[in-house]
Amino acid sequence: MEELFTQSVKDLGSMYHFSRDELEILDDADKAAEELSKSEFEHYIKREVNPDHKKVLTKHGIIGASVDKRYGGRGANPLVSVLVKERLGQLGMGLSSFINVQMFLGEMMIQRWGTDDQKERYLRPAVRGEKIFAYGLTELEAGSDPSEMQTTYEKRGSRYILNGSKYLITNGSIADNLIIFARSKDNRDEKSAFIVDSKSSGFSIPMRMEEKIGLFTSDTAMPQMDGVEVDEADVFGGIGNGMHVAYSGLMNGRMGVASASIGVIEACLNAVVERAKERIQHGKEIGKHQLIQNHIAEIRQNLEMARWPVYFAAIRKAEYEADPSNESLINELDLRISLAKKIASRLAFESADRAVQVFGGFGYSILSPVGRLFCDSRVARIYEGTDEIQSLKIAEGVLGKDFKAFR
Ligand SMILES: Cc1cc2nc3c(=O)[nH]c(=O)nc-3n(C[C@H](O)[C@H](O)[C@H](O)COP(=O)(O)OP(=O)(O)OC[C@H]3O[C@@H](n4cnc5c(N)ncnc54)[C@H](O)[C@@H]3O)c2cc1C
Repeated sequence: MEELFTQSVKDLGSMYHFSRDELEILDDADKAAEELSKSEFEHYIKREVNPDHKKVLTKHGIIGASVDKRYGGRGANPLVSVLVKERLGQLGMGLSSFINVQMFLGEMMIQRWGTDDQKERYLRPAVRGEKIFAYGLTELEAGSDPSEMQTTYEKRGSRYILNGSKYLITNGSIADNLIIFARSKDNRDEKSAFIVDSKSSGFSIPMRMEEKIGLFTSDTAMPQMDGVEVDEADVFGGIGNGMHVAYSGLMNGRMGVASASIGVIEACLNAVVERAKERIQHGKEIGKHQLIQNHIAEIRQNLEMARWPVYFAAIRKAEYEADPSNESLINELDLRISLAKKIASRLAFESADRAVQVFGGFGYSILSPVGRLFCDSRVARIYEGTDEIQSLKIAEGVLGKDFKAFR
């Protein structure tokens, strides 16, 4: 198993007893990352979505690892899921974005909010790699404030008709099903979520975001719905409950981004250690120059600072999942997840910046691992809620709900 990842499992193992099944999941995540590393690089430099994500993650039983055993999954709890994401995060945010949406925003959300029928219809095939999910909340004019969404639904008989466009949706053009958020055509304050079939008539992808500054192996698309029909059996989380569902998804998504950020820092550390021992300048390995040692020490320090808030949030999340009605736990969890996401994503970007510096000119290329991590990790400070939104949530957690900065 990869060394820094083994260390994380070992460190946590001194506080948490991993079952044999859980250790097997972690071992499989390691194998999947190992197997994907070559194709991830090849597709990255060609700037194309990596079609192996689904195949390899399914082969190693990772795609549905957090799905309940009742639906054919492996029942990984939030802590184990976070560790899986940490290991996959070492390959960069492209793979991580794919699995974040699939696992944390798709499967975990269906598990939390889905009806029994939805769980049967979506989770079972997802475990077999037969259902890829996307999460469509953001719109062109509704980003940090999703309550401004313009996509509408109206009821006709036993069906809902959706009209509108979503913006920057991960897995948007490769998903079989998308969790789409919309507002009632008659009442703009009523928001609801729907599970939309991408093969529905009226569903299209007029545009993909091709000109990203990183994250090339991940699909980012703008799904459009022109009179898309959704059966009432695919209302997700109840009519009128859309914002509640959306925010619970963002909590999951933030946790996933935070865990992948740990993987990014680990990959930076691995890369700089190797480079520092190999590259010779001024007559000695650059790792013998104290200023390079400082970069390495800072990245190692960042790893330590990033890991624990994420693990702690994951442990609290496991408690919350056992008792989702616990209001005080949800408020604390909200704060902890925002802390974890903001801390880990900033430290990942800072580590990648230092790693590029250690690599010098070669670092300024996507042919180098650190160049790719630098380009990729920037997005972690934006998606699933920007740094600024996390700051507002952290302040609200400290000051209390009366100081909530926005609706
Ligand atoms: C590669 C990628 C993949 C994505 N995948 C998905 C996905 O799968 N599903 C999905 O729904 N969305 C997705 N997103 C969208 C992402 O969640 C949004 O980009 C993000 O929430 C920010 O919204 P915005 O881009 O509209 O920025 P804006 O909301 O326009 O923000 C612009 C700036 O204003 C700041 N700002 C906004 N409001 C406040 C405030 N009240 N106080 C202080 N500062 C504020 C922001 O922090 C930011 O700095 C993705 C984005 C990217 C880049």
